[in-house]
Amino acid sequence: MKIEKIICDCCGEEIPTVKKKDIFGIEREYYRFGKLNYGEPFTDINCHNLGLDLCERCAGKISLEMYKTRMEMLNGTK
Ligand SMILES: [Zn+2]
Repeated sequence: MKIEKIICDCCGEEIPTVKKKDIFGIEREYYRFGKLNYGEPFTDINCHNLGLDLCERCAGKISLEMYKTRMEMLNGTK
């Protein structure tokens, strides 16, 4: 069974899928959504839960930007 295609909200590329066996041993396709990481304690945020569909690459980029912004705010610089 083929699952629906999901497009990354950021770059417009298709979200890649992986085939994995679920807990019942049935092979299913899963989307490889990117996860956001803003630095502790906001690590491993599933952006799909926030209504965003991001590929791993874009999630990585956004995470880095958010992390930098957060650090600048914490340091009171800029
Ligand atoms: Zn993307």
